[in-house]
Amino acid sequence: MLWSAGFAVILLVAVALKYLMPRRERCPQCHAARSADSPLCPECGWIFETPGDEDDGFEYGEAESVDPWN
Ligand SMILES: [Zn+2]
Repeated sequence: MLWSAGFAVILLVAVALKYLMPRRERCPQCHAARSADSPLCPECGWIFETPGDEDDGFEYGEAESVDPWN
């Protein structure tokens, strides 16, 4: 009885962690957790791709300016 209650708690913690973990980005190269401020991995210097980057905006702007010709 007691062990099943403990197992339920472990499951709840695991589920809670699964929901919380994706918020913290990890380095695809060395799997170190990314620090919030840094655009670079503190372990290996991997450059993280940030959504809403300058390149993305440029591509969308380009597509829109081409659109009237179609
Ligand atoms: Zn890294």
